[in-house]
Order: sequence, then C-alpha cells, then structure tokens
Amino acid sequence: MGNEQTKDWVPQTKLGKDVVDGKVGSIEEIFKEGKKIMEPEIVDILLPGLDHELILIGGSPGKGGGIRRTPAKRTAKMHKSGRKYKMTAFAVIGNKNGYAGFGKGQATGSGAFRTAIQKSIKNSKLNIIPIRRGCGSWECECASPHSIPMEIEGKSGSVRFKLKPAPRGAGLVVSDEVKKFLELAGIKDCWGKTFGETRTRVNLIKAVYNAFQNLNRIKMKEKFKEKTGTKIGEA
Ligand SMILES: [Zn+2]
Repeated sequence: MGNEQTKDWVPQTKLGKDVVDGKVGSIEEIFKEGKKIMEPEIVDILLPGLDHELILIGGSPGKGGGIRRTPAKRTAKMHKSGRKYKMTAFAVIGNKNGYAGFGKGQATGSGAFRTAIQKSIKNSKLNIIPIRRGCGSWECECASPHSIPMEIEGKSGSVRFKLKPAPRGAGLVVSDEVKKFLELAGIKDCWGKTFGETRTRVNLIKAVYNAFQNLNRIKMKEKFKEKTGTKIGEA
C-alpha cells in the first residue's frame, strides 16, 4: 500500500491510522460516512495518480502592454528590516475520474514560489470531493458520465457560476481556468456561464467547486439516476 511519499508517514488522526491499517479501504467509504480528511497522505494512498494544475492568479505587465498571467501572486509587506515578499499559489487537483479539489498555499522567504505551490497542492487534497457526473443533455441522452446530470449553480464572493450539461463532442465550453478543474474532475462536455466579477479567478474556481458541492446535496430519484447514468465519485 502507498508509494514513496507515504512510505514513512506516521498518521496523526484516527482516520489516517485506519487507512494505514487497512480498516478504511476506499475513498468512497470516507465520504459516505461524512468524515473529514485532515491529512493529505490519506488521499495519496487512496487516490493514487492525482494530477494538478495551477490557476494563474498572478500577473505582471507584459512586454507589449497588457498583463502576463503567472501562477503565483507576489505581495509585498514593509518590515523593519525592509520589504518582505509573500507568494500565493492556487492549485486544482483531480484523478480525471470523479474526484477533484482546490487549495491555496502561501510562503515567504527563499524558495517561497516552490513552497507556496507545494502547500497549495497539499491543501487541495484536503478539499477533495466526489464529483457527480452523468448525461443530462436532452440532445444526447446517452446515460454515460461524460457531462453532468443537470444544470448546476455555485457561488463564491461576488462570482456566480452556472454549468449546463452538453452533448457528446461539445467539449468544455468554459474559460481556460475553469477547464482545468473540469478536466481534472473527469468531465468532458459542458457549457458554462459566469456572472459577476470574473477577474478574481480564485472566486471563480471556488464557485465551480461550490456548484459540485450543491449537486452532491441534491436527492435524485433512482429513475433519474438511471436515465442520466449518474455516478458519484468513482476512483
Ligand atoms: Zn450524453
């Protein structure tokens, strides 16, 4: 069980110990019982092969004018000893098969860029959720999980995000940053629409995540699940 990263890991929580002892054998079990994951290694063991992407939250003036988007945001603070820089990174992760999450990481000092990224990936694992997939597109009705079972909506700050099922082959008709999250979740076809202050990319991703949280809370009839091929999770 586990891999190089988790080989020497000593779990600190009951859930972590149960995972190492093999008493909890799947990530599904954890979500079914509504347990909170406090250690990223739990996700490393139960969901190997996670991928990540960085959301471009930073920006510096580009050569030909405009803003060049960068994966980390640098903020300066004045200290007695002079200027101090803080780096912030924001990652999304997923197994491209029904699990996805996001996380923020911050660091100062030397190597802050790398440390912030590492922290953001770690925190993404603690925020991972099962993603409900299906085909709710009336043009398609193929009952396979390439899209979502129904229209969903999420919110974060002043950003509101709406996602609609799309037929096979439509692709992900969303902004590049939202695409990163949906691809990592294992969704292939969807139409998205954003309302509000969309330049704040962190809130945009949080709104997308919130839409999937909302979808997980919806009670679906067995008949509807069958018709749309709805699945939750699937590692
Ligand atoms: Zn379909």
